[in-house]
Amino acid sequence: MGALTDRDFRFQVRVWYLDRAKSVCPGCARGCNIEIHTSQRRPHHNRGRRVARIKPRFNAGVNQWWICDAGRYGFPWIDDESRLTTPMMSVSGRSTGTTWDEVVVAAARALRGHRPEEIGVIASPQMANEDLFVLRRLLDHLRVLQRDTRVLPREPGDEDDFLLRADKNPNTRGAELVGLVPVSGGLDARGILAAAVQKRIKLLWVFQHDLLASAWPESEVHAALAGAECVIFQGTNASGTSARAHLVLPSAAYAEYDGTFTSFEGRVQRFRAALPPLGEALPGWEILARVGRALEADDPVFRAERAEHAFNGLAAAVPAFAGLSYRALGDTGLMVRS
Ligand code: SF4
Repeated sequence: MGALTDRDFRFQVRVWYLDRAKSVCPGCARGCNIEIHTSQRRPHHNRGRRVARIKPRFNAGVNQWWICDAGRYGFPWIDDESRLTTPMMSVSGRSTGTTWDEVVVAAARALRGHRPEEIGVIASPQMANEDLFVLRRLLDHLRVLQRDTRVLPREPGDEDDFLLRADKNPNTRGAELVGLVPVSGGLDARGILAAAVQKRIKLLWVFQHDLLASAWPESEVHAALAGAECVIFQGTNASGTSARAHLVLPSAAYAEYDGTFTSFEGRVQRFRAALPPLGEALPGWEILARVGRALEADDPVFRAERAEHAFNGLAAAVPAFAGLSYRALGDTGLMVRS
């Protein structure tokens, strides 16, 4: 469990300059409740880093007053210099910064320019329920069956017999319930990669994962990324996979937007924006809604203006979430319907 004093925090920033937001740890499938303490008024007090510390938040049904060290100290990536902060587009083999309007139009054009069976989507169980739901509607509109979220890590995750889960994703259960799983006639993530190697998948859309750091052979991942005519990467931080993408859609970190995760036990819990998105990054659901509008898809979820609108669409469409709302979830969450 975490130390009684925060070794990285002491002497960096005075507590009365900190802002606080209720959140959920994204470090594993447990969904421990946390507070994110940020230093935005005097960032120089914290060496320019906006997130100062993570503290446990009481939830009798999840973590009581505890969090593990991985959750307490696992936040530097949010302010890391590897964050993707500008939409990028590859022009004549060179990646250059562009505007959201241009990159969204380019993504819509690429999606429209391929048959459904030529498109493969590897989404991420790091994404919020709201992101996954808007993506699901987009894939239904495009009739894309090749969809999955499961990418095996190179090293199996550690676990303990108290809180920590081997699954280092906060929303595997949500992805399953929302339907971001292989469907009959479609392909799983490994099958999508194999089909890209064979050039049957021509547009590969990868969310958050660095496939080159996964359990899959690097040579196969390289061949898949080279085999696809168009690779779209949507995520928070640069990686070997994002470096190979033709279009890069920078997304906000969980600490930068409102959303929900579903824990392995089926508890749907809200996390709140503690910070504005870095640079031009946007919440995942908002990027996907923009792509939906660029495709002129007639679905109200693509006109969502807040995460709550996307969640209400999810609650209306997916029976496991029926009857849930942000207000009903409150600060400690509610279980999905079994
Ligand atoms: S047990 Fe999991 S959810 Fe809880 S603090 Fe640790 S990493 Fe985060």
